[in-house]
Amino acid sequence: MRVLVLGGTTEASALAKLLAGDARFNATLSLAGRTSNPKAQPLATRVGGFGGVAGLIHWLREKKVDAVVDATHPYAAQMSTNAVAACAQTDVPLGSIVRPPWQRQEDDSWRIVPNAEAAAAALGKTPLRVFLSLGRQDLHAFASAPQHRYLARTIEAPEQAALPPNLRILQARGPFDRDSEAKLLSDQEIDVIVSKNSGGTATYAKIEAARELDLPVIMIARPDKPAGHILHNPEEAMAWLHDRAPGSLRGV
Ligand code: NAP
Repeated sequence: MRVLVLGGTTEASALAKLLAGDARFNATLSLAGRTSNPKAQPLATRVGGFGGVAGLIHWLREKKVDAVVDATHPYAAQMSTNAVAACAQTDVPLGSIVRPPWQRQEDDSWRIVPNAEAAAAALGKTPLRVFLSLGRQDLHAFASAPQHRYLARTIEAPEQAALPPNLRILQARGPFDRDSEAKLLSDQEIDVIVSKNSGGTATYAKIEAARELDLPVIMIARPDKPAGHILHNPEEAMAWLHDRAPGSLRGV
């Protein structure tokens, strides 16, 4: 059974490992190419966009794909929109691993905003020391609030031309633990954190550290992201694929 996994997440890597160990599947992992040195994967990997819905339809037909699992990041809404459209037009079953968002706890001080531009505006006029933990693609939004000092943690160095003037980059890849997050926030005298609600455990420690240190978090809300059949984790995705494999009761 030929499977396409849309990846870029911990769940996609875990599913790649499960698929690689199961001879019933011939799977390909697709990455957007946001990191130049992605972790080695046990599956055949392709990198870069398909060329919109039309490109993805072409790819699905050419490779005779039997099922797609969308395991993209909760903020990668465009890829999921394309996957829903392309799978509908080609009649290819689509399963989507949906990672639950973090829930606000009693001691959390969160302000929820719709996007990075709104996060920059929400920082206010008074100069602050801001920890940006939202990836590198949205950093340019903070150029509109140059009065603040920013520490941005990214996996790769940003490429945008228009960045805020007082920006330092800390290149690091999770998972991070609570003690080192609390130390970083204290050492850097951070006043406020800007974060996406990524969910999962790999980057949750900064939210716990913010709670411990009584720091506010400006939380960028998740985008609307369409999905196929909802799956909660890689194991569920495997079971869903097994149900569709030739030889299973539901297989065709
Ligand atoms: P996006 O806005 O959903 O996708 C933009 C385009 O990138 C897609 O239309 C597609 O190009 C290509 N693309 C995305 N994921 C792909 C995949 N798995 N395989 C092949 N092509 C893919 O996603 P994004 O621009 O990558 O990221 C949006 C947000 O998600 C950012 O805020 C980022 O911080 C966050 N995020 C993304 C990833 C990731 O691995 N992509 C990981 C962590 C966080 P075509 O239309 O040409 O097919």
